[in-house]
Amino acid sequence: MQSSSVLSNGVEMPLLGLGVWRVQEGQEVVSSVKHAIQVGYRSIDTAAVYANEEGVGKAIQEAGVPRKDLFITTKVWNANQGYDSTLQAFEESKKKLGLNYLDLYLIHWPVKGKYKETWKAIEKLYKDGEVRAIGVSNFHIHHLQDLISEAEHVPMVNQVEYHPLLSQKELLTFCKENKIQLEAWSPLMQGNLNLPLLAELSEKYKKTPAQIILRWDLQHGVVTIPKSITPHRIEENANVFDFELSAEDMERIDGLNQNKRFGPDPDNFAF
Ligand code: NDP
Repeated sequence: MQSSSVLSNGVEMPLLGLGVWRVQEGQEVVSSVKHAIQVGYRSIDTAAVYANEEGVGKAIQEAGVPRKDLFITTKVWNANQGYDSTLQAFEESKKKLGLNYLDLYLIHWPVKGKYKETWKAIEKLYKDGEVRAIGVSNFHIHHLQDLISEAEHVPMVNQVEYHPLLSQKELLTFCKENKIQLEAWSPLMQGNLNLPLLAELSEKYKKTPAQIILRWDLQHGVVTIPKSITPHRIEENANVFDFELSAEDMERIDGLNQNKRFGPDPDNFAF
């Protein structure tokens, strides 16, 4: 569980973390995050728009693991994009989380006409030592190319929807070539795990369908952040470091791709 990826700036990012989208602020988020940290998770993925940063911060305080051993990600929401507003949004997130630095700060979606100014603010936060690594989310290759053409720093991470029905081969290759760590959101297809191949591999490897997918992420070099509020699933999702999928089975899972999205396409979102 302590396996990590080394980002382009040398910072280590855990390969597996806990996602907290749609986890309720208060008791629900506090107990899920605390449980995850207590069973060995070190990375937590939240966002300003999830409205649960305070609870994540409380769980971090109560879990009793040194801050330096944790990797905390949050994201600037679309309405706050722009230079000054991003700097302000960062301060608010930091305050809600009760932290004096962040490990990773991401642009949540590529808002047209705004994301370059937002990136400048994020680069300043990085230069000022407010955040250890910086990146983007929901960026297609053309968004990355556009951003990189003027950026001082290439994003260290791109967090996108990624799972067996949306395996994003070209994007993964582009990111590897540019030393951008790909990170999978909705890795478990939001709980839609009922695919015959996953059931077959589950039987073969004596692992659950969720564990088969998370292992597939790891073997592709993709960081993954499954969400669960269920203690035994939080544990199950982390128990993926003791087996290996064969090259042939990796290819069979790759073959499930249908370019199917459970979330919006970054070229067409209206929020
Ligand atoms: P996931 O693909 O992680 O699926 C979560 C769902 O699967 C929940 O209903 C959960 O149920 C269920 N589940 C979890 N573990 C298991 C298991 N072992 N077996 C069966 N079912 C399981 O969905 P998310 O969309 O939440 O994505 C993960 C994270 O990615 C988010 O929480 C967020 O941090 C990030 N994200 C980022 C986005 C972005 O735009 N950057 C967009 C969307 C997500 P239960 O909780 O009841 O156990």
